Amino acid sequence: MICLTCSTSFLESASWQKLFLIKTPEVICEKCKVKFERVKTQKDNNNDWIGSIYEDALDSVQSIYSYNEWMKQVYQQYKFQLDVELAKVFIPDFQQLLRIQELIVPIPLHPDMLLVRTFSQVEQLLCVANVPFTEVLRKTVNGSQIGKSKKERMSTELFFSVTSDVQNKKIVLVDDLYTTGTTLHHAAFVLKKAGAQKVTAMTLIRA
Ligand SMILES: [Zn+2]
Repeated sequence: MICLTCSTSFLESASWQKLFLIKTPEVICEKCKVKFERVKTQKDNNNDWIGSIYEDALDSVQSIYSYNEWMKQVYQQYKFQLDVELAKVFIPDFQQLLRIQELIVPIPLHPDMLLVRTFSQVEQLLCVANVPFTEVLRKTVNGSQIGKSKKERMSTELFFSVTSDVQNKKIVLVDDLYTTGTTLHHAAFVLKKAGAQKVTAMTLIRA
């Protein structure tokens, strides 16, 4: 096998687990694998939202990896080269979602962005991991948050509309990267307003 991130060749390890459980293909070598850093304590950014209308929207957020230099590099590669093979690295992480009863809702890309990017990287990650999801959000504002102040980000109009019935539903929002939390808070807010009982979030990376 050739490692997708460092291009050296490596031997795929044989294990009992692989023989009997669902086989997760190894696409990167062990040396590269250990460079991923798991989030140890889930940072709670809720303080930023206290006093805003979004305060109680998002019940909790859980992120898997921290955005270290290695992850930045890997994620850029995935995102910009549309590297579907690389998505396989995260199969076990996303498959944790198979155990939950909640509705899995990926954060959508704006339709304009879809034209440029051809796929939503979050949906791609879920598809590769064989995790079923439901699309209930539509992006309404093509809001790039880059360069906006916190105040601007929090007062900007809502990014999403809800496209199907979420009354009394428990929802897990899934996104790739958690940075300011604006996207997730806005999404949670519209879902709660539409009657969702509980909205939590899972992100692959925490900046
Ligand atoms: Zn490697």
